[in-house]
Amino acid sequence: MKNTVNILGINFINTTVKQFVHTLGSHIENREKTFVVTANPEIVMDARKNETLMNIIQGADYVTADGIGIVKSAGLLGVPLPERVPGFDVTMRLLKLANKKGLSVYLLGGKDRVVEKAADRIKSDFPNVKIAGYHHGYFDLADDQIMKTVESTKPDIILVALGAPRQEQWISESMPLFDHGIFIGVGGTFDVIAGEAKRAPEIWQKMNLEWFYRLVRQPSRWKRQMALPQFAFKILQQKLQKNITPADKPFM
Ligand code: UDP
Repeated sequence: MKNTVNILGINFINTTVKQFVHTLGSHIENREKTFVVTANPEIVMDARKNETLMNIIQGADYVTADGIGIVKSAGLLGVPLPERVPGFDVTMRLLKLANKKGLSVYLLGGKDRVVEKAADRIKSDFPNVKIAGYHHGYFDLADDQIMKTVESTKPDIILVALGAPRQEQWISESMPLFDHGIFIGVGGTFDVIAGEAKRAPEIWQKMNLEWFYRLVRQPSRWKRQMALPQFAFKILQQKLQKNITPADKPFM
């Protein structure tokens, strides 16, 4: 049984980055197809408005808490999660594992030049990782040639960086074609590996302000972040509903 925490209808895995990559390692060894969603409050709110997306997320093997909003909410609901499990951190640890075991990795997503640069960087930093292939992320989701190309390379790990929810849609449509592989949506990870974008300095991360740092550097994110107050409101509602037990309602 997976140990999960339900936040607004989505079951988040109760784990740390280290433990989680260990779990993924066993799936790789057993050649079990595994779908991982790294979800932040914005995607949770998207899913509540989009049934297809909700079904995709609920159908994933694991949903991890990517975003301090998820971790804080779990605490508020009385079911704490130990830490954030972001796509970037999982990717870096997975690459370390892949380097140790000589696994193959496919990189799908990002701009043409960025994904190429990320692949070069991985080749030099993790020399035992086999780069199964890479492809930019600006293609039509209806074009099934991409999934056929990726599948033909038989990768152990498929890092999908198309942004949310495009990456989750691609994974859910493509996975049936594959025989094995860890599929994980990793957002802007290739931009960071390629040195095109910076992660928030550690101090900002420690202060739980990475979301604010991203907003300042990329103001166009404000529209997506508008979902955050709504998310907080829904969490308070879930907390209230949980706290009101029949004994609390003497007149009913
Ligand atoms: N991207 C892509 N195809 C698209 C749209 C976006 O490959 O059609 C890439 C983009 O180049 C970037 C990543 O997806 O590398 C999105 O990063 P972001 O940080 O916005 O991820 P999110 O926060 O949406 O998960």
